Amino acid sequence: LKQRSLDEKRRETLNKIVDIKGTIRVFCRVRPFLWTDRRRIQEPVSSELDRVVVRSSGSRKEFGFDKVFHQAANQEDIFGEVEPILRSALDGHNVCIFAYGQTGTGKTYTMDGTAVQPGIVPRALEELFHQVSLGNSSSFTFSMSMLEVYMGNLRDLLASKPASRANETVARCNLNIQTDPKGSVEIEGLTEVEIPDLAKARWWYTKGRRVRTTSWTNVNEASSRSHCLTRIIISRHGDAPEARPKVSKLWMVDLGGSERLLKTGATGQTLDEGRAINLSLSALGDVIAALRRKRGHVPYRNSKLTQILKDSLGDGSKVLMLVHISPSQEDVGETICSLSFAKRARAVESSRELPED
Ligand code: ADP
Repeated sequence: LKQRSLDEKRRETLNKIVDIKGTIRVFCRVRPFLWTDRRRIQEPVSSELDRVVVRSSGSRKEFGFDKVFHQAANQEDIFGEVEPILRSALDGHNVCIFAYGQTGTGKTYTMDGTAVQPGIVPRALEELFHQVSLGNSSSFTFSMSMLEVYMGNLRDLLASKPASRANETVARCNLNIQTDPKGSVEIEGLTEVEIPDLAKARWWYTKGRRVRTTSWTNVNEASSRSHCLTRIIISRHGDAPEARPKVSKLWMVDLGGSERLLKTGATGQTLDEGRAINLSLSALGDVIAALRRKRGHVPYRNSKLTQILKDSLGDGSKVLMLVHISPSQEDVGETICSLSFAKRARAVESSRELPED
C-alpha cells in the first residue's frame, strides 16, 4: 500500500512539470548555517518561494528563480523538483543538471549527499531503475561514465587504471572530444560501463567518487578545483525489435567552486587551478547567454566543459542549474556574484536558428 501511494505521488509530480520545453530552469539552494559560520543578528540573505533577497552595505538586491530552497529544505524536497527532468531524459531529451556556487555552499552535498542523506545522483539512479521496474511498453538500458575536468584536461574516473593528475598528458591524450555529423558529442577513449541494475550502478558511482577524491589532499580541494561529471546514457528500445534504440544523455555535474580567486589570495598552482575553473565557468555562462539570445555565435569551443556538453545544452535539451549560496555575511560578495550568474542563465530558450562553432 505504501509503495502504491509513493508511486502515485511520483506520477503526480511527474505530470505536474513534465513539459519543460526548451527552457533552462534555475533553482537556488541556501545552505543552512554551519558551526563554522559566524552568525550575526542581521542575516543578509532571506528567501521566499521564488526569490532571494540579499542586503548588503545598505542596499537591497532581489533575484528571481524558478524555485528557491530555503535552509531547512532537505534532499527529498530537492529531488521532488528534479524528478520531472529525469522523465524528460527517459523521454529522449538530453539533460544537464548543474550544481553551481562558491566552495562550501553545498554543491557536493546536493549532488552526492551522504549515506543517510543521499543526493541527486544516487536518487536519480534509483529512480531510473524504478521506472524500468514499472515496466511500460518500451524497455531501457543504461550505461555510465564519469570524468573530471581539471585545468582543461579530462580524466576518466572509471578507467581500470585511472591516470593521475600528475600524468595529465596521458589523461588528455587518451580522451578526445569529437562531434559526429549529426551533432552528437563523443568522448573517444572514455570508459562506458553497462549498468544492468541499481547495485551495479551504485558500485560504479562509488568507485568514480573514490577515484576522484583520493587523488586530492582533501575532499574540499577536489570539489573546488575541478568539475566532476557523471553521464548516464539512456537507450530506449521500442516494441519493434529491429528498430534502433532512442538514445539520450543525462549529465549530472558538480561544478568547481565559483569564488573569485584573486580575492582569496591564492598563488602558484592554486591560482592557476582557480583561473582554469573561473574560465570554464564563464565559458559556460557565455554559452548559456548566447543560447538565451537565440541568434549569433554560440562559443562552445572556449572550454572543455562546454565542448563536452555541446549536444546537451541547446536545441531540445533540458537544463537545470542549481545555484548554491551561503547564508552568511562573510560570503555576501560571492553570494551576489553567484546570484548574478544565475540571473544571466535564466529564461534561455532553445532554438534551431543557432549557428554553432
Ligand atoms: P561544496 O561542494 O559547494 O564545496 P559541500 O557540499 O562540501 O560544499 O558542503 C560544505 C559543508 O556544508 C559540508 O560539510 C556539508 O556536509 C555541509 N552542507 C552543505 N549543504 C548542507 C545542507 N543542505 N544540509 C546540511 N549540511 C550541508
